[in-house]
Amino acid sequence: MLVSAKEMLNKAKAGKYAVGQFNINNLEWTKAILLTAEELKSPVILGVSEGAGKYMCGYTTIVGMVNGMINELGITVPVALHLDHGSYEGAKKCIEAGFSSIMFDGSHYPIEENLAKTKELVGICEEKGLSLEAEVGAIGGEEDGVVGGGEVADPEECKMIADLGVTMLAAGIGNIHGKYPANWAGLNFEVLAKISEKTETMPLVLHGGTGIPADMIKKAISLGVSKINVNTECQLAFAAATREYVEAGKDLEGKGFDPRKLLAPGVEAIKATVKEKMELFGSVGKA
Ligand SMILES: [Zn+2]
Repeated sequence: MLVSAKEMLNKAKAGKYAVGQFNINNLEWTKAILLTAEELKSPVILGVSEGAGKYMCGYTTIVGMVNGMINELGITVPVALHLDHGSYEGAKKCIEAGFSSIMFDGSHYPIEENLAKTKELVGICEEKGLSLEAEVGAIGGEEDGVVGGGEVADPEECKMIADLGVTMLAAGIGNIHGKYPANWAGLNFEVLAKISEKTETMPLVLHGGTGIPADMIKKAISLGVSKINVNTECQLAFAAATREYVEAGKDLEGKGFDPRKLLAPGVEAIKATVKEKMELFGSVGKA
């Protein structure tokens, strides 16, 4: 059964570790992440962007697939199915479709409008027992064609959004989606510490987890980050493993063209990436 991310994140915040959000793209991705979470007894959040939602034939298809897998694979760890960077309309669609967690990204609106829309969704999510993530200060890089400037969030605005009663808060602290440029300045820990102080027990979310050095991840967790989003890293691992299989000519040997064989190395690569992240984030054994 899908659960809200509230309990797992409050526990993570109190226990000074983080739960990974791993974005899914298809059946193989979902299976790899769920099996790894179960094996490591880690809570997990499956992230779905609006683009990935379209790709997977809509939110109800995804809810059906994930619920089916939880049953058929005997998954016992807490699993949240979460809309990633949702629009106001997307959030409503996912609530309707049976997602257990929603991110409403109003960071591109003026703060007053972000506050008003987030507040309305807080009410709806509370009533249905869903968790809600809000965002202040756009995150750099590209997400579904939207390029953010990598702003650093204003701690006062973070407090205003946190006080609306959201479950978790994503705040830009110099993090970027996708690969980090060579001249990246690193995470702004000074601002993170201020946001943490202002928002007290609120679990904070770090987007763009791919390529942030392990020591920075650990420091961010020590300063109140309880959810870390990983997307690009699984994609890179999957692509590299698939490339290796094809370049070695394995698809031309025997039944090597069978998709169950062709995609298997990529699935194993996703599993290894998820395992590495869960170990780094400290969520192993916390389910
Ligand atoms: Zn993000």
